[in-house]
Amino acid sequence: MFLRSLAALAFVCGASAQTPARLRVDATDVTRRVIHVRMTIPANAGAMTLLYPEWIPGEHMPSGPISNLVGLEIRGAGRVIPWRRDDVNMYAFHIEVPSGLSSLDVAFDFIPAPETGAFSSGGSTTSKLAVLNWNQLLLYPQGATADTFPVEASLRVPNGWRYGTALPIQRESGNEIEFQPAPLTTIVDSPISMGAYYRTIDLGSEGGAPHFLNLAADSERALDPPAEVITHYKQLVREANALFGARHYRDYHFLFTLSDHITHFGLEHHESSDDRLGERAFVDPEPLRAAAYLLPHEFVHSWNGKYRRPAGLMPNGKDGGYELPMKGELLWVYEGLTNYLGEILAPRSGLWTPEDYRESLAATAAEMDTTFGRAWRPLEDTAVAAQILYDVGADYENYRRSVDYYPEGTLIWLEIDAMLREQSRGARSLDDFCRLFHGGVSGAPAVKPYTFDDVVTALNTVQPYDWAGHLRKRVQATSEHAPLGGIERSGWKLVYTNVRSDLWKAVEEEHKRVDLTYSIGLKVNSEDGTIIDVRYGGVAQKAGISPATKLIAVNTRAFSPTVLRETVAKTAEGGQSIELLIKTGDYYETHRVEYQGGERYPHLVRAEGTPDLLTQIIAPKAK
Ligand SMILES: [Zn+2]
Repeated sequence: MFLRSLAALAFVCGASAQTPARLRVDATDVTRRVIHVRMTIPANAGAMTLLYPEWIPGEHMPSGPISNLVGLEIRGAGRVIPWRRDDVNMYAFHIEVPSGLSSLDVAFDFIPAPETGAFSSGGSTTSKLAVLNWNQLLLYPQGATADTFPVEASLRVPNGWRYGTALPIQRESGNEIEFQPAPLTTIVDSPISMGAYYRTIDLGSEGGAPHFLNLAADSERALDPPAEVITHYKQLVREANALFGARHYRDYHFLFTLSDHITHFGLEHHESSDDRLGERAFVDPEPLRAAAYLLPHEFVHSWNGKYRRPAGLMPNGKDGGYELPMKGELLWVYEGLTNYLGEILAPRSGLWTPEDYRESLAATAAEMDTTFGRAWRPLEDTAVAAQILYDVGADYENYRRSVDYYPEGTLIWLEIDAMLREQSRGARSLDDFCRLFHGGVSGAPAVKPYTFDDVVTALNTVQPYDWAGHLRKRVQATSEHAPLGGIERSGWKLVYTNVRSDLWKAVEEEHKRVDLTYSIGLKVNSEDGTIIDVRYGGVAQKAGISPATKLIAVNTRAFSPTVLRETVAKTAEGGQSIELLIKTGDYYETHRVEYQGGERYPHLVRAEGTPDLLTQIIAPKAK
C-alpha cells in the first residue's frame, strides 16, 4: 500500500526541469458544437506516438470519444509532420520527429456529441451552456506518466459566459483563463462548467476547505431554487465531513448543470463532480426528489473511489496515462458502498424524508430480489464485466443483469452496517469503518489503493467477524434472492401493496415510464407505449410479450398510462382479463395476460417488536 499526493507532485512539476506541455482550448464556438485545440508538446527526434485518452476514470470503460477528434495537424518548426493512426489501437497516432526539434505543435478540433450518448462523451453543450472534460481536448506522448506529466492549460470561453472549476487559476483576462501548471492527472480530473446563465453558491467550509455549488442552466429561473434546498446542500457538506472525519481535496465544486438537452448522469472527481439533470431539477420538488441521491453519491466518491480506489481501477497515473485497461472486480465497493452512503446522506441532509429513503430502499430490494439473472450471474461478474454493461439496452435487463453492483451494493453494505451495530451492541457502525478506511489526514488529493483483503482487514478492525467469508458469499455466489438481511436486521420488512409512493411517482415521471414490474411484469414508456422491459418469467413474458416492442391498446382501448394502470388495478376485483395489442416491427398481435393480483408496488413496513436501526442510520450526525 502506498500514498501518492498529487499536490506534492504538482510542486515537483513546477520545480523540475520537465518542460510542460502547453494546452490552449478555444471554446468560443462551442454553441456551434466545435471546440478548437492547440497544443505544444515537448518532443525528441525519432519515432513518437501521441495518445488520446481512452480509459476514462470513473466511467470504468474505454469511453474516450476518439471518433469526435477531427482536423488533426502536427507541425514541427512550421513544417507539417505526417501522422499515421495505429492499425489496432484507434487512440494512437504515430509520427517521426525530424532531428533538431524539441517540440511539436498539435492542432485539432473536437466535435461535442449532440443530445445523445453516454456519460461525459454524451450531450454536453446547448446554446446557453457547456461542460468541458479535458480528456476530450488533449493528446499526450506515449510513455508519459499522468501523475507527473506537466500541463499548462488555458481556455477561452464564449463572451459573457461565466464558469466554474476546481482547477486552480493563474490569471483571467477578458474571456481567457490561464490555469496554474498541473499534472495531467489533475487536469483530466478537473472539468469545467460554463454558461450564459450561471450562479455560484457558497456551501460553507469544513476544516478550512471551501465548498461551492456551480450552477449552469438553460434559463435564469432554473438557477433559483427554494431557500431550503440550498440549506440541504449545506447540510450535505457537513454530514459527509462528519461521516468521514477528514477530507482529501483543497476545495470542492459541485458542477451542477441543468438542461433537457444534455446527457443526464454524475461523474466523480477528487475536487469536483460533473452532475447533470433536467432544467427544472433544482427548482421543482418532484424531479429533485427523484434524483436527490445524485450529488451525495458523487460527493462520497471523493473519498470512496478517488482517495480510496481499487488497485485494479488505477492503472493510469503512476505508471502511464489513460491507455491501460481497468479491472472492475471491486466495483461493488467503489460504486456499491458509494450507493449506500450517498443514499443515507440524502435523509441525513434533509434532501429526502425518512419515508423517501425507505421507499427508495424498498424499490432497490424488490428489483434485486426479482432479478431472474441472479440464477446464472454472480454479482461480481456484473463488476468484472462493467465495461460491457453500461451501454447495453434495457431489454431483458432482468435476465442479463445490469450494473447491479450499485443497487445490490446498497443492500450488501446496509447488511454490514446492521451487523456491525448488532455485534457491537450499538457501540460501532459502518460510520466507524468510513472514518478508518476513508478518513486519515486531511489535505490535497491523494490516492490510496486497496484490495479485497484491505477491506476485510478494516472491517475486522471495527468488529472481528468472518467478513472475508461473508463478502465472498455475497458477491461470488449466485443466489435466487437478494440479500435482504440488512432490512430485516434493521427492523423492517419488504411488502407489496397497491399504493404508489410519492417517490415511486416522481421516479416514474422523471423516467417517463409506467412501472408494472411487480404485477404484470412490464415497464412501458408512458409517452409512446414502447415496452422498455418485460420481467423474465413474469406473466407478460409468459403471455408471449417481449421487450423493445410497442403497446398499442389495452382491452381494445388506445394505450395511455391511466388506461393500463386502471385495467391492472381492476384485476383485483376478479373476472376481468387483460388483452394487450402489441406492435412488433410491422405486425400487430393480441396477447391475453392471465393475471388477477391488481397493482403491486414495494414498500417497507416495521417488523414489530424489533429495534428500529434504520431510523438511527439515516438520522443526522453532524454537530
Ligand atoms: Zn458512482
